[in-house]
Amino acid sequence: MELTQARDIVYQAGLDLAGEGLVARTWGNISLRLDSRSFLITPSGRRYETLKPSELVVVTIEDLSHEGSIKPSSEKGMHAEIYALRPDINAVVHTHQRQASTVAAARKEVTGLSEAHARLLGESVRCAAYALPGTKKLVKAAGAALDGERKAALLANHGAVCVGGTMEEAFRVAQALEGACESFIAEAFARRYGTRAHTMEEMHACYLKTLP
Ligand SMILES: [Zn+2]
Repeated sequence: MELTQARDIVYQAGLDLAGEGLVARTWGNISLRLDSRSFLITPSGRRYETLKPSELVVVTIEDLSHEGSIKPSSEKGMHAEIYALRPDINAVVHTHQRQASTVAAARKEVTGLSEAHARLLGESVRCAAYALPGTKKLVKAAGAALDGERKAALLANHGAVCVGGTMEEAFRVAQALEGACESFIAEAFARRYGTRAHTMEEMHACYLKTLP
């Protein structure tokens, strides 16, 4: 992938994810593989609204070294791990999207997916074991939760990581994951209370309250 083109793709993905409400302000990070040795990733602590394509950072997969003076996302290790483990993956999107983060707070595996969701996400979406953001432990847990051909994983008490052969696929996976998690929460609520929640707030609050 040519660098200028890659910068445009990652930049546009940031705007698209913000437009969908899947990331807010600086929350989350996005990357695209450049070749077998490196990837392009959003910088650390920058707002999407003011980010320029030229401020995206080239990071080496093997040692996490980066080009230029702008610091890459602190989750660069997780992105590198996925590119190293999964040659089929060329785009990684890490979000704190709302529905997925709620299920991640419950540390549940997302099951009972609709046919449309399962086509993109597989039979289920695993939740990676809890680890602090930016740690080696999180890198390993995320990698393990995305084994085989899986396209999405939850990160316990944190958020989600979605991957794809293209940025477009990773984006569609993030959208599908949000829909699948919303259904998953709604079904748990309905099982518990025998009715549908009136509002998303009610649904989320009750869902988290019923957890062991
Ligand atoms: Zn995060």
